[in-house]
Amino acid sequence: MILEEQLDRAGLADVHAKVVSGQRLSADDGLRLYACPDLAALGYLANLVREARHGDTTYYVRNQHINYTNVCNKLCKFCSFYVKPNHERGYVLTPAQVADRVRSYAEVPITEIHMVGGVNPKLPYQYYLDVLQAMKQARPEAHLKAFTMVEIAQIQRIAKKSLAEVFADLRAAGLESIPGGGAEVFSKRVHEDLFWTKADSEDWLEIAAAAHRSGLPSNATMLYGHVENIEEKVYHLTRLREVQDETGGFLTYIPLSFHPERTEIDHLPGPTGQLDLREIAIGRLMLDNFPHIKTFWIMNTIDISQVALWYGANDIDGTIMDYEITRTSFEATQQRLTQKDLLDRIVEAGRMPVERDSLYRLVPQATALVSEAAG
Ligand code: SF4
Repeated sequence: MILEEQLDRAGLADVHAKVVSGQRLSADDGLRLYACPDLAALGYLANLVREARHGDTTYYVRNQHINYTNVCNKLCKFCSFYVKPNHERGYVLTPAQVADRVRSYAEVPITEIHMVGGVNPKLPYQYYLDVLQAMKQARPEAHLKAFTMVEIAQIQRIAKKSLAEVFADLRAAGLESIPGGGAEVFSKRVHEDLFWTKADSEDWLEIAAAAHRSGLPSNATMLYGHVENIEEKVYHLTRLREVQDETGGFLTYIPLSFHPERTEIDHLPGPTGQLDLREIAIGRLMLDNFPHIKTFWIMNTIDISQVALWYGANDIDGTIMDYEITRTSFEATQQRLTQKDLLDRIVEAGRMPVERDSLYRLVPQATALVSEAAG
């Protein structure tokens, strides 16, 4: 009764009714969720969806992140990772060096290698194929997730082939899925202001849909907490939902918290923990056809991520190694959690950790754990 009064006071009684009956929320509902000051009410609604789908289960994956180059000609104003071509701090890992990085974690039982980088105009098409083959040779059992839609746009440009042909080549070289980065916010205004030289929303969605049709699942992201407004965020979520209706190829939605440090827009304050939780909750509520919502702890902290497990998130990434993208912007951030650290944090938050692979299949020991809990 008290809860119903709270939802009523928050103006969300009708949204609650839709959530309980499994009805899709409208764009107008999305705007109201963003405008609602009662974060606890949003969390309650998102948690209803999270628990109906996944109960207490919180997935995690043991993965290794590799950033093969920091050279990029896209000049995104929110990026602290890249350097321009010919910059003294620029680097490119050769396929052999990437393979060495993979082998350096041979004793760690990872199931996934996650590799992304800048848009480096000097790299030829063959480089991307060679680097995938080198990783696969170094660790054949690990799933290769690599190259954002933005990098794919560059790879296609230099390949001078159709997207379907490029995806066929990349798959033959070992690629198995695509990460969700590079989407930023689907807005012409923000694109023109912050990342005008790189793929826009329609490019990003077209490449994602083509990947899905080629048999490559992907994730999807939204970068928030800079200059975007709530209309743009609702548009972003509804466009993702539309493409997912068509292809069913998105595995996970990952809201990404903007970090202004050492970017061109470092005068902006950046998001608060309140906004981090709000984005997780609204993502869970609006993306009714996305199986999973992930909290990326390295960007919104492990502490916020623990709370996010009650605000709609059912997945927490990951046991990250050598993640360069944010290392330059906040060096004090812990770059790695051991499996035990991660499990302890999930359990402390009152959820059940379950190890998955990249396609959300349980790894063998996790299957045993879930059966035990169920039985
Ligand atoms: S966000 Fe990606 S595309 Fe943009 S500058 Fe950074 S590395 Fe380049």
